[in-house]
Amino acid sequence: MNNVKKSIEPLRGFRELTPEEYKKKKFIIESISELFEKYGYGEVETPTVEPLSLIELKVGEEIRHRMFRFKDLGDRDVVLRPEGTISVARLVVNKMKNEPLPIRVSYVANMFRYDEPQKGRYREFTHIGFEHFGSRSVVSDIEVINIAIEALKKIGIESFKIKLGNEAILRKILSEANIEQKEQDLLLGMLDRGENEEFFEKLSRKGEEKILNVFRELMKTKENSVGESEQTLRKILAGFPAALEEYERVRIIENFLEWKANGKYYFDFGFARGLEYYTGIIFELYVPELSVAVGGGGRYDSLCKLLGRDLPAVGFALGVDRLMLSSQVKTAKQKSKKVGVIILEEDAETIKYTFQVVEQLKEVENLNLEIDTMGGSLGSKIERALKKNEEAIVIIGKKEQTEKRVSVKRLKDGVQKSFSYEELKEKILEFIEQ
Ligand code: AMP
Repeated sequence: MNNVKKSIEPLRGFRELTPEEYKKKKFIIESISELFEKYGYGEVETPTVEPLSLIELKVGEEIRHRMFRFKDLGDRDVVLRPEGTISVARLVVNKMKNEPLPIRVSYVANMFRYDEPQKGRYREFTHIGFEHFGSRSVVSDIEVINIAIEALKKIGIESFKIKLGNEAILRKILSEANIEQKEQDLLLGMLDRGENEEFFEKLSRKGEEKILNVFRELMKTKENSVGESEQTLRKILAGFPAALEEYERVRIIENFLEWKANGKYYFDFGFARGLEYYTGIIFELYVPELSVAVGGGGRYDSLCKLLGRDLPAVGFALGVDRLMLSSQVKTAKQKSKKVGVIILEEDAETIKYTFQVVEQLKEVENLNLEIDTMGGSLGSKIERALKKNEEAIVIIGKKEQTEKRVSVKRLKDGVQKSFSYEELKEKILEFIEQ
């Protein structure tokens, strides 16, 4: 018995949502999706199952070990997608060759990672993503960050923090020490996982004292206030012109954030992200209710080249399942009225007539109709309607069917009125609201 019960539970880290729970998820997806069109991001769809070789191109050590991977029946190595950017980049490279640049695309898609389940960490979760291809301009960085902030606001989140860093600065410093890109990926992966000791150990083995010191200083930057950090950063990066040049971009972004998210952002120049494809600005979004990020993104100028077209890009994804855990998200109050439909005699003609009435009432805005299919006495049907918080019930029996009339009972005061089939649509709302 126990075994049977166990086998009908969902797998660890996978969730089922009841209508009440799903309502919140849907509200988040629908509200944020409204920004797709507003900012010109065309929605796309990519496969749930992808070749391992594609995802492995750049997904990074951390996620590489946490993928649902298997052989399909054709003996191919495949994975359930752990993220969407690589697939979307492939779609843009392969199928959107003739589109004018920049190409803006968006998606809502479920992702799979074999993460250790805990609050806000599941093995299947939904991303809403925005990706902007073809522009190297800092304007595109800012556009994407602006949309990320707008998305949070759209669902009622006003209290949030954005953490920013810049992988170009880190990579340019590492390049000074002739560290190849592959090794840079490994080193930045260590920073992402908080393995700072291992990071410094590896650097010191290379005998790069100058670089080592720069990184030590960069690690401290998050403790600085914004005004202070500019002077400090310029000092730290003084010997690295390429990194300093990148810092000029950061200043432009910071200038925008001073206006858009005053007091809600901070820079941490020792911060790196787990995905290997980032090449410039990176950021993560946090809400006070959760210790893990609700979204993240950044610039990834070299990913598309690996797929066959040299296109710079910047984008981000929000984790819908984590946003659901924020108490700041308030689903819009349902304006619609719930109305029950009760059939008194379930004969062929009365049933057909009831569906004709329902079809007519479907045209009344803000009216949700639920037909009672549970049988029993009128009293038990009314009791069910009250439990479901219905405001009124439409009652149809043999008499109503033959006379082409409909009775409506208001549940707050029990007043009942009869309407002709023709006038019902016009008058029902007014009667319910009286
Ligand atoms: P990433 O692709 O790692 O940048 O993740 C982007 C966003 O996806 C994160 O900020 C989270 O909101 C969400 N996310 C990542 N992993 C999980 C997970 N295991 N469960 C739920 N949400 C996740």
